[in-house]
Amino acid sequence: MPTALVTGVAGFIGSNLAAKLLDRGYVVRGLDNLETGRELNLDRFNDNSDFEFVEGDIRDRELLRDLTDGVDYLFHQAAVSSVPRSVEDPVSSTDINCTGTAAVLDAARHAGVDSVVVASSAAVYGSSEVLPKVETMAECPESPYALSKYYTEKLALQFSELYEINTIALRYFNIFGPYQNPNGDYAAVIPKFIDLMLDNTRPVIYGDGEQSRDFTYIDNAIQANILAAEEDATGEVINVACGERISIDELVSYINEELEADIEPRYEPSRPGDIPHSCADISKAKNVLGYEPDVGFREGLRRSIEHYKT
Ligand code: NAD
Repeated sequence: MPTALVTGVAGFIGSNLAAKLLDRGYVVRGLDNLETGRELNLDRFNDNSDFEFVEGDIRDRELLRDLTDGVDYLFHQAAVSSVPRSVEDPVSSTDINCTGTAAVLDAARHAGVDSVVVASSAAVYGSSEVLPKVETMAECPESPYALSKYYTEKLALQFSELYEINTIALRYFNIFGPYQNPNGDYAAVIPKFIDLMLDNTRPVIYGDGEQSRDFTYIDNAIQANILAAEEDATGEVINVACGERISIDELVSYINEELEADIEPRYEPSRPGDIPHSCADISKAKNVLGYEPDVGFREGLRRSIEHYKT
């Protein structure tokens, strides 16, 4: 039975990844300092003896030494995962995302971990309007967060050149689904809008609503992580998305359709740093990993709404 370590396990992506790994027969260790992660995301593992949760920080090198012992695959999800938060406090996001990643990678190579998959972001492409985003494009990180993700990728790939360790970086594009936190100033648009609209509250759209994103259901991102760990794709940076654009206006009308509601959004001026459109070229993920997004946007939205209803 392979053993996996998931950092950021109490977060949205980490907790869903842990669930899938356990389904596949992995033994899973999870690390999280509960900064933005939530214990309720871990409740479903309470009776699972193959799951162990450790509350702690990815910058704690001694702890990492213990946790990486005997690990086959490491999925590094822990991060300050918000652009505005990194703009407000660039020092802690740089410390956690850069120093923390270095500590995780270093522990992995000392422990002889077979493969490390690190979470990167579409934010590294910046705001250029050229679409779709292909991995061969020049990166243009425009926030401390984006820069920290660029560093995360580069350091991970450097480790595969310098040491005997397989590393791969996945550039996520707007992942959404169950267990994503709908509350707080930094909440992502889909859980936030579902939560508000379930409560019959009008969501606020910043801008004209025409801006669009490559919204990607969580199961697709998890599929990419597992393929990245289990396939031989070391040294690669790969987009994880669906390759389709959905506008924010469309998002609101689809949620209305699912809820059989007719809630009008409110429009406010767009915020500085908001990018108009984002969409990925996913050919590399298909060719290198054999990735195929199985769950489309509408089905993912339906499943998410069901989750938030309960
Ligand atoms: P999340 O905030 O739900 O999860 C991040 C987790 O990391 C949280 O549980 C948090 O408590 C934990 N964490 C933060 N600092 C830590 C530290 N110092 N030590 C230990 N744990 C720490 O975010 P998410 O959406 O699940 O994102 C997971 C990863 O994917 C992040 O690296 C993020 O940057 C990246 N990402 C996510 C998206 C998306 O659409 N959700 C898009 C691009 C990239």
